[in-house]
Amino acid sequence: MEFDRSEVEERGTEASMAHVIFGREYPEQVDAIVIGSGIGGLVCGNLLARGGMKVLLLERHFMLGGYCSAFRRKGFIFDAATHNYPLLGNPTTLTGKILRELEIPTEWVKMDPLDRFHFPGLPTFAVPADFSQYLEKLKSWFPEEAATVDRYFAEMRQACLYGLLYYFKGVDNEQARRLERYTITEKLDEHFRDPRIKAILMADAPHWGSLANRTSYLFDAMLRFSYFLGSYYPRGGSQKFADDLGRALIAQGGKILKCAAVQQILVENGKAQGVRIRTVSKRFPQEYVFRAPVVVSNADAVHTYRDLIGEEQCGRWMIDYLKSLQPTYPCFLMHMGLRGADAAALETASGYHWSSYDLTDAIRNVFNIFVPTHYDPNVAPPGCQIIIIQKTTPVRLEEISDWAAHKAAVEQRLLERLREILPGIEDHIVVRLSASARTSYYYTNNWQGARLGWEMSPGQLGDARLPNATPVENLYLTGHWTQPGGGITPVIISAQRVARMILKGCLTAADLAAQYFAFRSAAVTHHVERVPSEDSNEFWPHHPLSSSAK
Ligand SMILES: Cc1cc2nc3c(=O)[nH]c(=O)nc-3n(C[C@H](O)[C@H](O)[C@H](O)COP(=O)(O)OP(=O)(O)OC[C@H]3O[C@@H](n4cnc5c(N)ncnc54)[C@H](O)[C@@H]3O)c2cc1C
Repeated sequence: MEFDRSEVEERGTEASMAHVIFGREYPEQVDAIVIGSGIGGLVCGNLLARGGMKVLLLERHFMLGGYCSAFRRKGFIFDAATHNYPLLGNPTTLTGKILRELEIPTEWVKMDPLDRFHFPGLPTFAVPADFSQYLEKLKSWFPEEAATVDRYFAEMRQACLYGLLYYFKGVDNEQARRLERYTITEKLDEHFRDPRIKAILMADAPHWGSLANRTSYLFDAMLRFSYFLGSYYPRGGSQKFADDLGRALIAQGGKILKCAAVQQILVENGKAQGVRIRTVSKRFPQEYVFRAPVVVSNADAVHTYRDLIGEEQCGRWMIDYLKSLQPTYPCFLMHMGLRGADAAALETASGYHWSSYDLTDAIRNVFNIFVPTHYDPNVAPPGCQIIIIQKTTPVRLEEISDWAAHKAAVEQRLLERLREILPGIEDHIVVRLSASARTSYYYTNNWQGARLGWEMSPGQLGDARLPNATPVENLYLTGHWTQPGGGITPVIISAQRVARMILKGCLTAADLAAQYFAFRSAAVTHHVERVPSEDSNEFWPHHPLSSSAK
């Protein structure tokens, strides 16, 4: 895909003037501006630059990566959020190939087992990275369900293929249409009787940031199969991957400006024309305008429409509509740097810890332990280890007035459980930090601190998810708030789609968006009346804890 530069030159977008910001020059005019350096923004910027465009990527934080970043404390490198990167180390896969084409040098450490599941009354179930071994293991644990295991996975394999065509390649097909309405639990209930095997088959579903009875079976099938093509950890940690993408963009002539918060997307005559930014500096915040005929927002969708485009451009109904959609639940994180702990015991304790077979346990008690030092010991000082605990927390930011108390309460519950699983662990702690929903929001601007954008429920995927094009001409969305969905693999696909639309000069993109929004706008006119208010529990209509969540 090559960008037709002559068109841009005719429109006079060749760089002429430059702003000097933080002592460096940045051209006032470029071919494309990308807002946000999440993986969606970074990959999209790279693809556009490879296509011949002059790209400026703007990030409000002082680090790249959004949810794929890391921070250092006392010599420990902690992944801020993401740790499992399916497919990326396998160059024969859709997304692995993109990274190879972009010449991203990140080294990937393969995970095997893929995960561990701990349930009361069952030995730990370690998921082998080899698919046939996985099936054999399930059958040997549940011999009376053996034939069903074969049937279930034969159907899931088909679902995965048709789902890939449908969600990732945009190829409509009857099979996907038939399966898209199912949730994970509906399909499990259709096939299995034993609650223990059902629990094992959805044990990692909390990573979807919603309950398995609300998560799309088809989307889950796609990603679940992908794990067996390789799930990876980036050597050096998540920041290494984000920084490698940043360096690749610069190598292609792109520019990256960090500590630059976009305040407004400039729209003239219905077309995106550039952005106004404010530098993030305590002492001297300054405003600048950058111009470009193409703008891509990798930022949160509510933020993009409400704050950057504005009600006057997109209509009040749009903001109301977005708020009527269901975001994923945020994730509470505890990061611990340890010295001299038993590495084998940590590894055995890793994985998802359930306290019952009830699916709602996923947002009450379940937590996940990840041990990055198992994959790369160099992310900790010699003789030290890291554990990261993740717990889905069904909270909304405006519901919590005392964040210190909230953090302390969740920490205490997690520490109690951790002491049972790893006795004496506290004697080894060198550093301990935690991050709440508000921390996620603060560092990434993700609305409600949502883990993966909108919930991956059947009604919020496919055509029903926000399109990559917007009603503003030449303004696009990439990342987990738009199609195809949340998680690293989907956001890379969204970046690829957007880059293709732009580089191919896809004239129908805006038309498609117009159709989508015209339809939603009509639906919203009567829908808005029953949009749950932000401060009501109604927002989580299916949340089993909604009356006690406050
Ligand atoms: C705790 C946790 C664990 C996860 N684990 C996994 C996992 O193991 N595997 C997996 O596949 N997925 C995982 N996910 C999900 C995955 O991380 C996300 O779906 C994905 O990283 C989102 O990428 P994105 O491109 O949408 O951008 P984001 O990561 O959301 O980044 C958006 C960027 O835009 C910037 N920005 C926002 N507003 C502005 C503005 N006005 N001006 C400038 N910049 C702005 C932000 O600062 C941020 O850097 C996890 C998520 C969480 C929270």
